[in-house]
Amino acid sequence: PGEPGRSPMSRLNIAGVESIIAVASGKGGVGKSTTAVNLAVAFALECKLRVGLLDADVYGPSVPTLMKLQGRPQLDKDSKMLPLENFGVKCMSMGFLMDKDAPAVWRGPMVMSALEKLSRGTSWGEIDVMVVDMPPGTGDAQISISQRLPLAGAVIVSTPQDLALVDARRGVNMFQKVDVPIVGIIENMSYFKCPKCGEVSDIFGHGGARSTSDEMRMEFLGEIPLNMAVRETSDEGAPIVASSPSSDVSGIYRIIARRI
Ligand code: ADP
Repeated sequence: PGEPGRSPMSRLNIAGVESIIAVASGKGGVGKSTTAVNLAVAFALECKLRVGLLDADVYGPSVPTLMKLQGRPQLDKDSKMLPLENFGVKCMSMGFLMDKDAPAVWRGPMVMSALEKLSRGTSWGEIDVMVVDMPPGTGDAQISISQRLPLAGAVIVSTPQDLALVDARRGVNMFQKVDVPIVGIIENMSYFKCPKCGEVSDIFGHGGARSTSDEMRMEFLGEIPLNMAVRETSDEGAPIVASSPSSDVSGIYRIIARRI
């Protein structure tokens, strides 16, 4: 208590939820949501955990599309929302509560009250691990979320060239400032393996992830290739870990899930 940057009073638990892991990125478009969703499904299917997925990316909620879920959540007798479920994962997203094309013009306090509603206004039941798909970036909204939710740790998703730059470091620094341990770094779109000849190309460069993780004394959790099926299954709302469990990429997600 009283430590700078820390506000223990407001870090309330979410009823029924054992531990919470944030999936974050220094900037948008690196595959944070895709990774969050596939890890959540891997926790459920591979690790046999009871899993929740909280879409805290209120600016661009993608969980409804990625998990093929839509419609308004029903309310229980205490007027708490019941999460929507697919692939063994209970999900809650602002996308369930607003029109698809409605502009998400959120100011700081609105983000926090929306998040409050999604997290503690939901009747999750018993959950072993909750994955939080964070908004991209490292601004005030991300800091507030990290101060409000009792995060057990954060996973940082980055592309190789992003890692070479400063975004991932910024993410790491932000979580350290609010005393959230970094579980490790995942490199997404790491390499491309030609489906015809098997040749591997390092489209965005390669090797920087491991060394950056080492340099920052952080665990390197793994490399996810740039893969057509990952993109297609995301668009279809059938996460590859569930829809094509025997693929190489699904194996990589499962290994990373076990490491976490
Ligand atoms: P973010 O949450 O960081 O903004 P998304 O998860 O929405 O990023 O991913 C951005 C785009 O990249 C999406 O179209 C997604 O399908 C695609 N994508 C993400 N990871 C991969 C990958 N490993 N291989 C191919 N496409 C990917």
